Amino acid sequence: MKEILNGRYEIIEEVGSGGMAQVYKAKCNVLNRYVAVKVLKKEFVNDPDFINKFKQESTSAARLNHKNIVNVYDTGVDDGIYYIVMEYLEGITLHELIQQNKGLSIDTAVDICIQICEALDHAHSNGIIHRDIKPHNILIDKNNQVKVADFGIARAVSNKTMTNSDNTLGSVNYFSPEQARGGYIDEKSDIYSLGIVFFEMLTGEVPFKGDSAITIALKHVNEQIPPPSSINNEIPNFLDEIVLKCTNKKQTLRYNSANAIISDLMKFKTNKEIFLAESSNQSMEGEKLEALNRFLLETSSINSIGKTQLNKGYNKNNKSKSDNDKVKAMTIQNNNSTEDKIDAYDDDYVIEEDKSKLKYSILAIVSALALTLVLAFAAISFIEDYLSVAEVEVPDLSGVDEITAQNTIENLGLEFIVKDRIYNSDFTEGQIMSQNIRAGEKLKEGFPLEVIISLGEKMIEVPDLVHKYSNEALVLLNESGLQGGEITYEFSETVPWGLVIRQNPDSGVLTKEGDVVTYVLSKGQEVEYALMPSVIGEIVTEAEKILLSKGFSVGNISFRSSSEYAKDIVSYQSYPVGTEVEKGTAVSIIVSIGPEEVTEPTTLPDDNGSPVTGRAQMTIELPDQEGMLSVAVERVLEDQRQVVYQQTHTKEDSPLEIILEGFGVQKFEVFINSEYFGAQEIDFGN
Ligand code: ATP
Ligand code: MG
Repeated sequence: MKEILNGRYEIIEEVGSGGMAQVYKAKCNVLNRYVAVKVLKKEFVNDPDFINKFKQESTSAARLNHKNIVNVYDTGVDDGIYYIVMEYLEGITLHELIQQNKGLSIDTAVDICIQICEALDHAHSNGIIHRDIKPHNILIDKNNQVKVADFGIARAVSNKTMTNSDNTLGSVNYFSPEQARGGYIDEKSDIYSLGIVFFEMLTGEVPFKGDSAITIALKHVNEQIPPPSSINNEIPNFLDEIVLKCTNKKQTLRYNSANAIISDLMKFKTNKEIFLAESSNQSMEGEKLEALNRFLLETSSINSIGKTQLNKGYNKNNKSKSDNDKVKAMTIQNNNSTEDKIDAYDDDYVIEEDKSKLKYSILAIVSALALTLVLAFAAISFIEDYLSVAEVEVPDLSGVDEITAQNTIENLGLEFIVKDRIYNSDFTEGQIMSQNIRAGEKLKEGFPLEVIISLGEKMIEVPDLVHKYSNEALVLLNESGLQGGEITYEFSETVPWGLVIRQNPDSGVLTKEGDVVTYVLSKGQEVEYALMPSVIGEIVTEAEKILLSKGFSVGNISFRSSSEYAKDIVSYQSYPVGTEVEKGTAVSIIVSIGPEEVTEPTTLPDDNGSPVTGRAQMTIELPDQEGMLSVAVERVLEDQRQVVYQQTHTKEDSPLEIILEGFGVQKFEVFINSEYFGAQEIDFGN
């Protein structure tokens, strides 16, 4: 075996082999996943007819995509090796499961059967017949998911089957009579094989055994399948009936669809207690038994009941029948020892067979009645009640409003039960979304029909986002099931920077789940700029007016001598004229006090009348500011100010130490670049 197919599928190990192929676990190097690669055995490779069918069928199977069907990904040929690539399943085959457990519990068997039916229903509605339904082709993965493999592939094989290999012997156990005879094969053939698989799940064995494929095939053509309960008496009649209806010799008398089987299996699941009670009770009065039979007869989808019921009695109670059949089968085999001869047995033959069995069957029902006493009284009276009422067809309620639906259902004599009300965007409030029993099914009057009603689309109250930060707003929206939409930004006089100013839709409005709420975040107050006017040369009141008119205010006013400007005239403003300055800025000004006078240090006469002055040091930490710093120090007296120091410095001069003269404790104010910088009280110690 090559190690890598078409440079893509790297073979890892063999996981099994069947009649026509070996199956390998492989790694797909393109999609980097494990796959199962089924490689055709050499003996088929030289048959071009077979190869064509194989390709055609595997391609059509690749169309199927269903949770209960093994996905076919690809097919290919590499150096004469034909292969199919499919989903790799880690698990076991149903065959192995049945072997390990010698049959399955009723619940498991029913559940697996339902899943196989789902797969068949999907394939059949896509026009694909499996043709080789058998437990080997049913895989069960680690999650107990059932997946049917090899859809359609068997068509390629079927012509070659009968005389072939052990594997054919495997398949022939599940062959429908029409497959055994080489007759017309349709969906009903899969239903037959499914019936046999169900039989095997319930009982742990196949219905017909034999030494050769032909012997077994003949039995499928000629012999009635025994009811599973004849092997395992815990199996309720209802399941017997399902198996027997699936495996009716005549295709037309089998279930019409896999879906119809699901309906019956669901019916079984919902009424399981009754069915199980029925099978476990040992005694039944004749009258009650009749009631039960009538009930089974009337169970809508099992219409072949008359025959199967009789046969059941027969098989259970008339052992000589199977002996008799053996003889018959042997006779047939002697006369028709080849596969071709099997074709000679047509449907008429089968009907004849059935008729002859009817005689035995009448005997059988008599003995069945004699056995009687199998049901509990409670179960029986329930069933009798059930029988005495008429059947009605379930209408399609989807989209119908609750009141109309209730009236319709109650007028039909059924019970209307609202199982749940849930939000749904596809149905408006009050419309029926789903019903537990499909439209078209027949129900006895009084049967409860459960519906789920839509509450309409889920509406959500928009939360209040105003004055929340953006991240808080998003959390609130998320928690409510809404989404944050576009964020825009605006200045706000009242809402601080970063908080939501308003939202759309507003809080309290009802919206649909997942809807988008947009909001506006504050950029804080809007900053406006204006050109700084000149106030130098103006009197203070005028300067103030000018500044106010441009949106500025007057800041600190200080007074200083000036040789340039007359007294009371503004000699300095703290912002350069013509620059853009934020509106609202306070502009400090210096007002001239006239030309500088040489000021004598202030002295106070001592007790003797002579002035006494002291010296003290003032330290100024200059601001960390580039450029020239104009430092002025003023002594603040009660009725006047004196500039005691005025010099230009840079920040490198810091700390600035100035020696001052004075007496007592005096207050000094410091101005830097005409702005008030601070004040200090200095104790001259005299
Ligand atoms: P037939 O040739 O009639 O289909 P078969 O079903 O027994 O007979 P194969 O289909 O070749 O044989 O499968 C052989 C084995 O390979 C199976 O029994 C199963 O264990 C394993 N196998 C098949 N398909 C897969 C898969 N998709 N994933 C994992 N294992 C698989
Ligand atoms: Mg297979």
